Amino acid sequence: MPWPQNTPPQRDGDAAAGIEVTDDFERFTQRNDIFTRAFWDDRIKSKHTAKFFSSYRMEAAPRRGDGFTQRDFALRNAAWLISDVVSSRRAQEGIREGFQAAIRPDTPVAKDALEIGDPAKMSAEIKRIAKFFGANLCGITDMDDRWIYTSRVDARDMSEAPHDLPEGLTGVIVLGHEMDKELVTTYPSALAGAATGREYSHEASIVMQLAAYIRNLGYEAVPSMNDTGLVIPYAVKAGLGEYARNQMVITPEFGPRLRFSKIFTNLPLVHDVPKPRGVKAFCDICTKCADACPVKALPYGPPSTQTSNVSAIKGVKKWTSDAEKCFSFWAKMASDCAICMRVCPFNRDYSRHRNRLWLKLALGPFRKLALRLAGKHGGRRKPADWWAASSPGQD
Ligand code: SF4
Ligand code: SF4
Repeated sequence: MPWPQNTPPQRDGDAAAGIEVTDDFERFTQRNDIFTRAFWDDRIKSKHTAKFFSSYRMEAAPRRGDGFTQRDFALRNAAWLISDVVSSRRAQEGIREGFQAAIRPDTPVAKDALEIGDPAKMSAEIKRIAKFFGANLCGITDMDDRWIYTSRVDARDMSEAPHDLPEGLTGVIVLGHEMDKELVTTYPSALAGAATGREYSHEASIVMQLAAYIRNLGYEAVPSMNDTGLVIPYAVKAGLGEYARNQMVITPEFGPRLRFSKIFTNLPLVHDVPKPRGVKAFCDICTKCADACPVKALPYGPPSTQTSNVSAIKGVKKWTSDAEKCFSFWAKMASDCAICMRVCPFNRDYSRHRNRLWLKLALGPFRKLALRLAGKHGGRRKPADWWAASSPGQD
């Protein structure tokens, strides 16, 4: 079955979510995402992209200085392990779970469905169980078809293939996974990539376990990471945070320093609503991420519908990066980059009182003062210092 049939696009709350869809809107095809294009598009394929992907095996990991030593790649690649095990278990069928196809549930849907008398209570329970399994944030929104990819990717030849989603999905449970603050300070480096890999491994196990719980209750639940649909609009609609210039969702709990996963379900749940707090107004006066990007892949100026290439969704007014430029830097470095996360003034430890005070300033009329106070916030820490440190950093 290629498509959930009973979920017409839900556009209520678009304005609150800061989502502006124009008449030119086209749903995105996953075959055009930059990582998939690196396998089929000669514009992207290069010796660097081949080295980037192979560096996730130790025998092919390059070594070149601080942050890119054997130890750095060893930690990064170990951090990815659980995610790799999941994503490669059906590779022979062309199904790259979690990245180019939804994760196939390992648990059947129980024959007898638990009666859900109060969807609000069930929503609270799901959020509690999400945290029990290790998610840092959890929000719920409707199954808005606009953000579902038109197709998945058959990883054998990178062709388009139909999704295999069950009928009647109505909701999306969005989970946020905090990245390690100390490691993020070392971007760009292979060491910092361990923060990314660890969360993908966490995501894989958490979405599989939470989906298994829902299926054991007698409802459909499809675990999903980067596959099947764009998680960012779902995270914003679920009230977890706001979309920012650096292409990330900025949350009050962790700023931009987290990754998101999702579960598609028909469990009766109450949906959250977007919670605009003032991030967009701050991004309007700040360009720290765009200034710091080594390949100038991030936009200046206000949100627009302008796109640089086919790796961006069409017909959505927003800040859009040039994914080709961005990925060219990742490929040359043989690791992921998140300098634009590291330097963002919202990337702070909000367990500290002074950072919570800063957040209040940043989200209100004193945002210019907050920007000035941010100063040179987000400087890089040497990876060797991370290895040498016995105590965490101070910010
Ligand atoms: S990830 Fe790195 S290269 Fe890509 S937009 Fe951010 S700073 Fe630029
Ligand atoms: S660095 Fe500034 S402009 Fe970029 S996302 Fe963060 S707050 Fe917004």
